[in-house]
Amino acid sequence: MIKTIFRNTFLVGLSVLLVCGLLFFGLQYKQTMDETYKALQQEAVYAEKGLMIGGQEYLSKLGDENRITWIDKAGSIIYDNATPVPTTNQKDCSEVKSAIEDGEAQSIRKSETSGVQTMYYARRCEDGTILRLSRPLSAVRYALYAVSPVLWVLVLVIMISVVLSFRVAKQIVRPINELDIDHPESNTYPELSPLISKIREQKLLIQEEVSQREALRREFSANVSHELKTPLTSISGFAELMSKGVVPPEKVQEFSSDIYKESQRLMMLIEDIIKLSKLDEEGIGPERENVDLYELSAEVLDSLKPTASKTNIKLEMKGEHMEVSGVYQLLSEMVYNLCDNAIKYNRPGGKVEVDVHSTDDKVILSVSDTGIGIPKAHQKRVFERFYRVDKSHSKEIGGTGLGLSIVKHGAQFHNAEVSLESELGEGTKITLEFPKPSPVAKEAEPSSEETKTEE
Ligand code: ADP
Repeated sequence: MIKTIFRNTFLVGLSVLLVCGLLFFGLQYKQTMDETYKALQQEAVYAEKGLMIGGQEYLSKLGDENRITWIDKAGSIIYDNATPVPTTNQKDCSEVKSAIEDGEAQSIRKSETSGVQTMYYARRCEDGTILRLSRPLSAVRYALYAVSPVLWVLVLVIMISVVLSFRVAKQIVRPINELDIDHPESNTYPELSPLISKIREQKLLIQEEVSQREALRREFSANVSHELKTPLTSISGFAELMSKGVVPPEKVQEFSSDIYKESQRLMMLIEDIIKLSKLDEEGIGPERENVDLYELSAEVLDSLKPTASKTNIKLEMKGEHMEVSGVYQLLSEMVYNLCDNAIKYNRPGGKVEVDVHSTDDKVILSVSDTGIGIPKAHQKRVFERFYRVDKSHSKEIGGTGLGLSIVKHGAQFHNAEVSLESELGEGTKITLEFPKPSPVAKEAEPSSEETKTEE
């Protein structure tokens, strides 16, 4: 930051100095030119007077600081204090031509005699001849050297501005470095107050978020311990009774089957916890691929056929082949949990329908059932971890209370939206809306309308 402030301050100073320097030397150059012309003009006036009185001899007595050329009306040179004397007709020279017409003229051009850029002043004398005085332009440039100390001053100013810019940069940054967010009253710079209050607000928000997460984590740990402890207590109790030989032989099978059921529940619970904690570890996970939701759902329904047939529930697949970009395993678990719930919380002889279709920008999957429904008061909470409407009923039918939570997290992972519609005693419909994969990512595959019914 110091570097940036220093660079910017220094650049501003340097630009101002350069502009001032250029302006100064430009104006100085112009002024020197004007003065030179004036000097040539004055000298020409005197020379004309001398010439008219003393003739050519007067001219030859003048010094050679300036070149003096006397030209007759026809344009031929009568006198020139420079050698070699040009033989060309001087009427072709712009200043001579203009002086014949207007009485006097000036120009800057390359001299034929010396070959250097020269300033000319020509004047028509009383007798119609032209008197011309000239001086090389380099003489004007030499005059500028008189102001060269200014250049050294400029260099000095630039060096001073380097030091000052660095000090200014350090001074600007110092109060920011010394900011004490926890003790804003110690801030002596009112300009920094808005920044301090913004940082404090941000800090409070982060602290709040951290404590919320911490509370959720603690609640989750407490729930996990409780949920794991319940089946373990049953298993340990049954096993203890059996080991002590207090279980009558005819009850041994029943006890063993209870132990088996509880251990199955325990395994399911652990599996679900592992799935959720994997979802919590954002950013890691397998690569995404294009997954045909219709095909995936049909496979899930197929695997649930034996469960559904136990209560005579009809499974129906509707819609079209639609792809989403996602993780196959996770999508499969999400659809499985939805369909499994739709069967678990259904009535004997009921129906479960999975529909996959699309809109302009979404791929929509919905699972609807004709089951017991979810009371309005519970509808928002069923996606929370371990939340069940009827805890004992859920446990009885092998629920872990984590199924919908996995669906919610999986949906977040896939940038999908979850919605729930339910009527008590009539049924439930849970919908997932996925963003449509971009046409580039999507493999060209014709989609077809299909309806498939399984029982
Ligand atoms: P569980 O393992 O208990 O089914 P879930 O997280 O999958 O846990 O669901 C949470 C609760 O939401 C369930 O206990 C149940 O009360 C209710 N629920 C979920 N799906 C349905 C459904 N299709 N019909 C009625 N109730 C449902």
